[in-house]
Amino acid sequence: MPDVQRYDHFIGGKRLAPDGGQYMESVDPVDESPVAEIAVGNATDVDTAVQAAQQACSQWAEMRPLERGRVLTAVGRKLRENVDRLGRLESDEMGVPLGMVPTSLETAASYFEYYGGVAPSLEGESIPLGSTQFSFTTHEPYGVIGVITPWNAPLNQAARSIAPALAAGNVVVHKPSELTSLTALVFAEMALEVGLPAGVWNVVTGLGADVGTPLVMHPAVGKVAFTGSVATGRRIGEIAAQKIMPVTLELGGKSPNIIFEDADLDAAVMGALMGFVANSGQICLAGTRILVQRCIYEEVAQKLAGAMAMIPLGRDLPAPSLGPIANRAQYEKVLGYFEIAKQDGATLIAGGGPAKDRGLYIAPTLYGDVDMSMRIAREEIFGPVGVLIPFDAEEDAITVANDTDYGLAAGVWTRDVSRVHRVTSALQAGQVYVNTYFEMGVESPLGGYKNSGIGREKGLMALKQYTQTKNVVIQL
Ligand code: NAD
Repeated sequence: MPDVQRYDHFIGGKRLAPDGGQYMESVDPVDESPVAEIAVGNATDVDTAVQAAQQACSQWAEMRPLERGRVLTAVGRKLRENVDRLGRLESDEMGVPLGMVPTSLETAASYFEYYGGVAPSLEGESIPLGSTQFSFTTHEPYGVIGVITPWNAPLNQAARSIAPALAAGNVVVHKPSELTSLTALVFAEMALEVGLPAGVWNVVTGLGADVGTPLVMHPAVGKVAFTGSVATGRRIGEIAAQKIMPVTLELGGKSPNIIFEDADLDAAVMGALMGFVANSGQICLAGTRILVQRCIYEEVAQKLAGAMAMIPLGRDLPAPSLGPIANRAQYEKVLGYFEIAKQDGATLIAGGGPAKDRGLYIAPTLYGDVDMSMRIAREEIFGPVGVLIPFDAEEDAITVANDTDYGLAAGVWTRDVSRVHRVTSALQAGQVYVNTYFEMGVESPLGGYKNSGIGREKGLMALKQYTQTKNVVIQL
């Protein structure tokens, strides 16, 4: 008997042991002790889940959208009621401080509540063709959607794709990260208690190559919503191209956060700080390139370093606090970038190493006088690491900001409204924040320019992206 709880797949409303009989450990990032065992899935498990989803499909798709919406709203409420329990699980698996996890899970609940509310708004159009023909459109679900999610905000990222997919009348086979599968397994089961029909949300756990790839390749999967790295997104896109299947790809970032000399500096410094250290830097939208106008550069560097020293690190602390890096592989990757920064000749202002003797904690880290030739300015580190890049004129800031393969988010700090319009329009990014950083709500569309992705999640735009439009023309 294992010492820790064992979790099977959740398929067709039931827990199902993996076809191969294998389980793998999920590990606590503070002491690296096992938290649970999860099923190691394979292509047979994926096929079983897709079949279960197909069986649930017509009942769910044919339900009146208002009713479907009511169920999803109840799912959101259920999640909200269980934030403490789910939060503890998520904190055990990925290390997010207990004081911080409610925000992420309450947003997950909001996705179900929001898409529950807007489910009946998927209206078609009638198109005028004169008196002899009648033309109209409907928005139809794809059927089975494959949802593949990463480890950095487990249930939040899952809900972001699953809620709109279900609201539009699809059913889902979900493959969470093998590092953080527990909250999806537990909550997909809880959702049955408030009326989500069995088979509408199936969870198959395991490795990317064993579960993710067969899910993307499965002929009955009509669309894939993927959140994760560019490398994996590219592989999924290649398979999708062969299948002629639509994908939403929400990938990485190396977002610029630009501070102009006329900004409210205290607000900008706090925004810049949160922009790269929140969730210990494990946020795709993180503003890790902080571009500062040269005349305020020293002041900003000093203020940032001072504010960084005040951030408490520990998992059991109230907000705002930073937890460990979520897994050893990512921890080693971040430490590796400290060596790369040294080789590139970057100036270390603060941090630059482990923060505690025990646990995968990394000290919030800031480099100064960085330029775009350095790897720490170009590559996504996914840890609490920011780089300061000085600039002179507005055009220089825009050039540097756009000098990246990524294009997920950007920040602008200024009091000049004309500059706001000029700069936000010139920035190549899917979401731009002005005098703030991050928009954690569920209503505004989010997605990447360039290598940061394809398609949009969140808001009404995402709902439509989980449908295909049918046009009907009737000869009268
Ligand atoms: P990852 O690409 O390694 O894994 C993401 C998911 O894909 C996991 O479930 C994994 O098991 C699965 N996977 C891995 N290989 C696969 C394959 N060959 N086929 C199918 N599935 C496969 O990413 P990660 O390390 O879990 O997450 C970190 C990355 O996610 C970062 O780059 C981050 O920026 C990105 N991210 C993006 C967003 C966004 O909204 N744009 C949000 C969160 C994280």
